[in-house]
Amino acid sequence: MEPADSIIRLGFRKWYERQLIEGHAWFVTCFLCMVAIAAVLEELSFRGPLPRILAFGVFVFAAGLVGCYAWLRYQRIMTAAERLGDQATCAACGTYGRFTMLSASSVRCRKCASEWRLVD
Ligand SMILES: [Zn+2]
Repeated sequence: MEPADSIIRLGFRKWYERQLIEGHAWFVTCFLCMVAIAAVLEELSFRGPLPRILAFGVFVFAAGLVGCYAWLRYQRIMTAAERLGDQATCAACGTYGRFTMLSASSVRCRKCASEWRLVD
């Protein structure tokens, strides 16, 4: 269980913060790929030498692949962080993100010792 191991090692709040940072880093990567593709397509002219046109095509294709991968990673990371973030509040006392992992899926509140399942 990847999230459980990381949460045990870092604590929930730090894990959540790192997920948001990593997710947004992937989002910025996707955005930069889109800008790079737009810049190359703006410069592309089919009257130039063939190797130059092919190099532009390869660059656009590679930037498109990286951009798509970055978008998928962004979505996956943010969805997982949001899903666990929604369940990180103790139902008994309302404390957010202060718990101890008991197993890969269940947690105990540090304030009131109430237990619940973090991961379904
Ligand atoms: Zn509690």
